[in-house]
Amino acid sequence: MAEASFDTELNARGGAPEPIAGSPVFAWPPRPVAAAKFLFGYPGYFVPMNVLYMGLAVISWFWLTPDLATMKSFHWDWIAIVYGRNLALTFLVFGGLHWRFYIKNAQGERYMLNRKAPTVSHRRFLFGNQVRENMFWTAGSAVAIWSAYEVVTLWAFANGYIPMLDWEAHPVYFVLLFCAIPMIRDAHFYFVHRLLHYRWLYRNVHQLHHKNVDIGPWSGMSMHPVEHILYFSGILVHWVLMSHPIHAIFHVQATGLTPAMGHVGYHRWEGKDGDARSIGQRYYHYLHHRYFECNYGGDGTVPLDKWFGTWHDGTPESHEIMRSRRKQAHGS
Ligand SMILES: [Zn+2]
Ligand SMILES: [Zn+2]
Repeated sequence: MAEASFDTELNARGGAPEPIAGSPVFAWPPRPVAAAKFLFGYPGYFVPMNVLYMGLAVISWFWLTPDLATMKSFHWDWIAIVYGRNLALTFLVFGGLHWRFYIKNAQGERYMLNRKAPTVSHRRFLFGNQVRENMFWTAGSAVAIWSAYEVVTLWAFANGYIPMLDWEAHPVYFVLLFCAIPMIRDAHFYFVHRLLHYRWLYRNVHQLHHKNVDIGPWSGMSMHPVEHILYFSGILVHWVLMSHPIHAIFHVQATGLTPAMGHVGYHRWEGKDGDARSIGQRYYHYLHHRYFECNYGGDGTVPLDKWFGTWHDGTPESHEIMRSRRKQAHGS
């Protein structure tokens, strides 16, 4: 990628994305006011996305999950309920975003990060088409593996193989664990993702995800089944950390659904009133798809990319740092 095109291409589409600020939560020296704003502001760590996912987990637990007594032994009828619920959520979220941005074309190319829409017909994709391949890996592998983890975890809770947290006895811990799960997810994603960039795993597994250079919502979960197994493995933390099934459902649902927004391919969301709200963190992962060796983390709440020197905030300066790091690593 020629250096000159780094900025100019993005500038040409209704304004360049703002540099990514990163999370002040783990800053040193501490920045308590900035951290509080990051956590409790709008848009912030909790509102809207994590609160929505928390609400969804509660609804799923009370109304869209069989009761514990039923889940004591494996039966296709209740497993089908879990799988069907996850598949429906996937089509709603991934399909909804794809429809808004790339079928209805709600904002055309305004604030688009992609060089072209992620609906490419090309031989390198299954069925000769990017969206079809993306949907195939999402519905066929991602939702199946996500549901398998969830089913086995619920079954283990039902049988008492995993100790179950009593929320009435420990309400503060219950809420705190809820609040910490997005950060646990962030850290887990960073390490799994870095692992996937090691030679053999990249070539045989993760490359499938990186076939998507221009990305759309459906690209988010378009991964090799081995990557799905690693990616969803974060739910296993609830096998050792005292939890309630709602925690596990929240964890795995957010893991399954956030990639839709993370791969949307735009950096601003245009409202009806014409204002364009920044969805800047999408830019963060977009840069990973475009330049590979940066931004392995999630949305940057736990700034592991900063700590490990793989941070790219979307400025020419940080692009230059990444290029020299790359030169050093590859010896040219
Ligand atoms: Zn990657
Ligand atoms: Zn990606």
